[in-house]
Amino acid sequence: MTVLVRPSPLPDPKVRSFDMLIGGKWTAGQEGRVIERTAPSHGMVVSRYRAGTAADAERAISAAREAFDNGQWPRMTAAERSRILLKAADLISARADELAYLDAIEAGKPITQVKGEIAGAVDIWRYAAALARDLHGESYNTLGDGTLGVVLREAIGVVSIITPWNFPFLIVSQKLPFALAAGCTTVVKPSELTSGSTLVLGDILIEAGVPAGVVNILVGTGPEVGAPMTSHPDVDMVSFTGSTGVGRLTMANAAQTLKKVSLELGGKNPQIVFPDADLDAFVDAAVFGAYFNAGECCNAGSRLILHKSIASDLVARIAELSKQVKVGDPLDPTTQVGAIITPQHLEKVTGYVADAAKSGATITLGGQPLDFGIGQYMAPTILSDLSPEMPVARDEVFGPVLSVLTFETIEEAVRIANAVDYGLSAAVWSRDFDTCITIGRRARAGTVWVNTFMDGASELPFGGYNQSGLGRELGRHAVEDYTETKTLNMHIGDRTAWWMPRGQS
Ligand code: NAD
Repeated sequence: MTVLVRPSPLPDPKVRSFDMLIGGKWTAGQEGRVIERTAPSHGMVVSRYRAGTAADAERAISAAREAFDNGQWPRMTAAERSRILLKAADLISARADELAYLDAIEAGKPITQVKGEIAGAVDIWRYAAALARDLHGESYNTLGDGTLGVVLREAIGVVSIITPWNFPFLIVSQKLPFALAAGCTTVVKPSELTSGSTLVLGDILIEAGVPAGVVNILVGTGPEVGAPMTSHPDVDMVSFTGSTGVGRLTMANAAQTLKKVSLELGGKNPQIVFPDADLDAFVDAAVFGAYFNAGECCNAGSRLILHKSIASDLVARIAELSKQVKVGDPLDPTTQVGAIITPQHLEKVTGYVADAAKSGATITLGGQPLDFGIGQYMAPTILSDLSPEMPVARDEVFGPVLSVLTFETIEEAVRIANAVDYGLSAAVWSRDFDTCITIGRRARAGTVWVNTFMDGASELPFGGYNQSGLGRELGRHAVEDYTETKTLNMHIGDRTAWWMPRGQS
C-alpha cells in the first residue's frame, strides 16, 4: 500500500493574520471581515485574512486607476522598472522559506515541492525584469516618401489579476511581474483559501520600491470581490487563472465593457504511449504526472492512452510504483503528495471514483480517502477498464486519480486525446520520430511533451487550446500581452491636400 507520512504537530501553531493592501496602505477593509483558513493537512486554523467587500474592490480599482493615470509607473524608464523587479526577485528569494511555509500549510502542498516553486517564481521575476527592457514597437520607413509609421507598445492600463489555490505564489508570479514590466497598475485577488503568500508579496513589493497604488491586493470570495474586478469600467484587462466555469463567467463579465481577457483554465491532459517508447522513463512520468500536487494541477497527466499491446503490463508497473509514493504531512521534507484542499473537494474526487466504479470501471489502486485522524488526504488511485465517455475520463477531477484508456492505431490515439473539452497539454512517448511529430502536430494542446512530462521554463509560452483558455503566459511575448499598440502615422515635409488642391476653395 501507499507509504504514509503521518502529520506531526505543527512546529509553529500560531495563527498568522493579514490585512489587505489598497493604495499603498494595509487595511482591514470597510467592514473588517475575517476569513479563517484551516490547514487541509492538520485541520486547524493557520491564517486569518481581512476580507474585502465590493466597496473595497471599488477602492482598490480606483487606487490602481489613479496610479496609472498619474503616469509615474507607466512613464518611468524601463530600466528603472526593471531594477525594481530585480529587487523584488532578490527579496522573494530572501523570504523563500516563509513563502514556502505559507503555501504548504494553506494549500497542503509538500514543502520540498513548494520550495522549488518559489525558486521557479524568482526566475520568472528576473525574466520579466529582463523583458521589461526589451519591450518595443516597430517602425516602417517603407510606406512611401513623406510618411513614417511608428507602432508604439503602451501599457494597457489597469489589470485585474485573479488566481486559484493550487499554485498560489507561482501563478501570481506568472502574471504580476509581466503586467508591472509593461507599466500597468494592478488589483490582485488570490484565492480566499490561500491568500497568505500573495499578501507577503505585497510587503515585498513595497520594500522593492513599487509606488503606492500600483499593486493592490484584495482578499475575498469570487462573487463578492472577484466579480467587480472583472466588470468594473475602470479595469482595462483581466488576467484570470482558475476553473473553466469561472473563466466563462469572467469573460462574460468582461464583455460588458470589452476588456481584454487572458484565461488559464482547466485541463484533462493525455499521455499517449507506444510500445517502442522508453517504458521505464514513462512509468516514472506517469506516476509523477498523476500525483504531483495531489493531482490538483491543471497540467496533471490524468489520462493515460496506452497501446493495447502494452497496457496491462504498464498498468501493473505504474500501480507498483504508485505504492511507493509518500503521502501525508506536507511539512515533512520526504512527502511527495500532500493533503486535499477542502473536505468538499475530497468528496467531489471520491464521487468521481464511485461513479466510475458503478459504471463498470476497475479500481486498480486506491480509490479511498486516507484517514490520519486530522486533515483530508486521498490515496493515489488508478482506474482501468474505462470508456472515454465516462465523466472521470473526460472531466477535470483535480485529485490523485489516474484514468487509463487504450488505443490500437495512431488515428485512434489522436481522436481519444482530442475528444475532451480541454486542450492544455499532452505528451507522446515513442522512439519513432514520425510518431512523435505526428502526435506533436495533431494534438490540440498548448504544450506537447515528447518523451518527457511537465517540464517548463520561463522562456516557454504556456496556455491552452479549446476550453483550457485564451492567450499564453511566460515566453518572450508575455509582457506584450499587457500592452496595447498605438500607430503613429506621421507626415514628413510639405503636405498636399487630398480633396482640394491647395489654394482652391
Ligand atoms: P476557481 O475558478 O474556483 O477560482 C479561481 C479564482 O477565481 C479564485 O480566486 C476565486 O475566488 C475566483 N472567483 C470565483 N468565482 C468568481 C467570480 N464569479 N468572479 C471572479 N472571480 C471568481 O478555481 P480554483 O478552484 O481556485 O482553482 C482550480 C482551477 O484552476 C482548476 O480548474 C485548474 O485547472 C485551474 N488552473 C489552471 C491553470 C492554468 O495555468 N491553466 C493553473 C492553475 C489552476
